[in-house]
Amino acid sequence: MNRALVLEENAILRWREIPDAPVAGWYRMRIAAAGICGSDIGRGFGNGAYHYPLVMGHEFSAIVEEAPSGGRVAPGTLCAVYPLLPCGKCHACAKGWIHLCEHYDYFGSRRDGAFAEYLYVPESNLLPVSGRVSAEEAAMVEPAAVAHRGTHGFDVDEGFGTFVIGGGPIGILAAQWLRIRGAGKVVVGDVDAAKLEFARKLGFEAVDTSGFNHGTHGIHGSGFDVVVEACGRASTRELAIDCCARRGTVSFIGNPTEDWTLPKTAFSSALRRELSVRFNWNSLPRPDWTEVLDHIGKDLALKPLITARVSMADGASAFAHILAHDTFHCKTLLVNE
Ligand SMILES: [Zn+2]
Ligand SMILES: [Zn+2]
Repeated sequence: MNRALVLEENAILRWREIPDAPVAGWYRMRIAAAGICGSDIGRGFGNGAYHYPLVMGHEFSAIVEEAPSGGRVAPGTLCAVYPLLPCGKCHACAKGWIHLCEHYDYFGSRRDGAFAEYLYVPESNLLPVSGRVSAEEAAMVEPAAVAHRGTHGFDVDEGFGTFVIGGGPIGILAAQWLRIRGAGKVVVGDVDAAKLEFARKLGFEAVDTSGFNHGTHGIHGSGFDVVVEACGRASTRELAIDCCARRGTVSFIGNPTEDWTLPKTAFSSALRRELSVRFNWNSLPRPDWTEVLDHIGKDLALKPLITARVSMADGASAFAHILAHDTFHCKTLLVNE
């Protein structure tokens, strides 16, 4: 038997029994904790689901309940679970870029996910975690890995001024990675006073980006060496290009929420600064997930980002609070007691 928070149709979530759906050779996992992602809001409440009914939930930790015969992960093992199921046949898969697979499946979007009691998962998606990592932290590995993807692969050093636009969970995690990578200055920008306050509590300089004046920021007063855009609005993408220093890097993580036209003058100015632009998508088990697992509880703090814990069965109320904006939240976790 299995129970899940089922998205019956747009904006209708119901906790109910669902058929247990074993897959031969996969593990039966008991979900420990699952985070609500910003994308779940659009998916569940903005007509963004692939199909109905759907069980959402792609940021999660789970405990092995039953291993398939020959399985190498023992019952009782706490795992962070990589949510993407690659086809294994396309060009991207052949290159090892499974996160860019052309025909992927995905827990919590294309197929049922983790807002449930149980889920069947293949061994290749299980990342067992060590004893110092809690189930709640293990559920935060996915967003931390997405933030890692957008902040690695380019130079950062102590002489660097870095700027993260967007003070949501991904932005805060990106700021942590830039600090871990040794950036001398890490600034978080947002227009929401509560998010700025939260970023300050975590030790970051935080600035209100409404009416932000580009050229005068960063370490050299001529912009930031690295700008990570973790918001997805047209204005924040333009700001990212605008406030990047000469020969700097702009790294886009934020899912776009609207079209964006880059004015000719802004494009010309970007050419004259020889900006590098990176687009980032999702995360890879290696290095993104393994890096997160190495840093959790040392210099990567995930617990402070968890601002609400709600029982899985009451998941609909957690979504209602997020939609109503009635309390500040960074990451809400749904947990199975
Ligand atoms: Zn997500
Ligand atoms: Zn593929």
